[in-house]
Amino acid sequence: MSRLQEYEAYLERVRATGSRVITVTMPCCSKQLDVHVPNGKAHEWTSLMECPHCGTFWMSRKKHSVVGLGRPSPEVEGAVERHVLVSEKKVTA
Ligand SMILES: [Zn+2]
Repeated sequence: MSRLQEYEAYLERVRATGSRVITVTMPCCSKQLDVHVPNGKAHEWTSLMECPHCGTFWMSRKKHSVVGLGRPSPEVEGAVERHVLVSEKKVTA
């Protein structure tokens, strides 16, 4: 199975439990990605995340409708590249 197929299989299990999944556009490759986020509006998950499309690693902060991403800047030494991705469409409640 490819990385993307494994990711899709994981999302299927997530959706089956009624967990929330939102769609964002990844800044690394401009591709859309469905992301598992907390159902609760007050919750926040922090984790290391690998983009299944292009393999870029990000530190992620996942909230109900927003995903924050950060990584060492590939262009400026010592700088951090940060993005705030807002849910584009609701995939699952
Ligand atoms: Zn990517």
